[in-house]
Amino acid sequence: MNKNNILLEVKNLTASFEIPDKKTIIPVNNISFTISKNETVGFVGESGSGKSSLAYCITQLLAKNAKIIGGSIKFDNQELINLKLSELQKIRGAKIAIIPQNPMSSFDPIYTIEKQMNEMFMNHLKTKIDSKKSELFQKIKELEKTKEIKSLDEQKKISLEILALKKEAKNYTYNQSIQLLKLVGINDAEKRIKQYPSELSGGMLQRVMIAMNLICEPSLLIADEPTTALDVTVQMQIITLLKTLQSKMHMGIMIITHDLGIIANMCDTVHVMYAGSIVESGSTEDIFQNPKHEYTKKLMLSTPKFDTEKLESISGYPPALSQLNIGCAFAERCEKCMEICLKQTPFIFQIENNHYSTCFKYLYEKYKNNHDELKKILNLNGIK
Ligand code: SF4
Repeated sequence: MNKNNILLEVKNLTASFEIPDKKTIIPVNNISFTISKNETVGFVGESGSGKSSLAYCITQLLAKNAKIIGGSIKFDNQELINLKLSELQKIRGAKIAIIPQNPMSSFDPIYTIEKQMNEMFMNHLKTKIDSKKSELFQKIKELEKTKEIKSLDEQKKISLEILALKKEAKNYTYNQSIQLLKLVGINDAEKRIKQYPSELSGGMLQRVMIAMNLICEPSLLIADEPTTALDVTVQMQIITLLKTLQSKMHMGIMIITHDLGIIANMCDTVHVMYAGSIVESGSTEDIFQNPKHEYTKKLMLSTPKFDTEKLESISGYPPALSQLNIGCAFAERCEKCMEICLKQTPFIFQIENNHYSTCFKYLYEKYKNNHDELKKILNLNGIK
């Protein structure tokens, strides 16, 4: 990816949560990555791997008991950490939009889709709407002035023009909403906009949620489990929709998911997360064709494929983030675990190009005939 196209640059981001009994957990641990324009970057891992917390760190919509304790989040070269709330609000929802994990519950059941879209417009684009309306009213004024000196026929024409402009000013946000609903593939948009959320299917609500998030034409769209709770056909439609919108609007997309199928269909780059850390990163091809971390390999084997006879599950459970010790967090579940995995915390190293992993097993295999080089790499990372 072209460096000049980088939208989001996250470096060594670490966040902590205070939980009862004065315990601290680290759901986001020393995370670094970038997202460029037109790029789709996926974060995959089991529940509790820190994927959603990462998304909420970026938008700084963290719970009260959570805080960012280190690192940097640069969006369009502007540091977001410690940015004034008023400045942050100009970016959040406008330049960075987030489709939440359960969009169905993000709608207010007592208001129509039109009212909820209208509110979104007023929250984010009030100034633009006001200036568009005053532009229309200015035109009306000018037409009214010229009307006085015109012939009767021309006066009639001008009156019709004025009427159309008044209608346009009155229905400005409605028309914009209809356009957006059509853009996301809602058929019968004029009927749907008058309906309540409970009258729409899950797939349709997801499309409306995407439309609402496009109101400000964001340059980065974060989708947190965008197709959970949708059936397979609708999932595919939503994925296709996001890709189509991306090619029209050149957005960067960050996808948070536990579903490798979505990653395979959508992403250019993948980060595999486990216990709050990125354990492997690479192009989608690298991760699917050539996984190097034992956890990634297990994830692949637990995903259904056409030619899979038997699916493997990953035995055990991810560790509680409050109980992370020295060593590889996956060690307890890993069949390839070695002595070093229990005594030393893995570090990230390059495999080739943009492919990175933290698995000791791969490192030891790679340098099995070059112990000096292995020792050098370990030493460089503080392991004697
Ligand atoms: S570092 Fe060790 S324990 Fe962790 S995944 Fe690799 S082999 Fe398994």
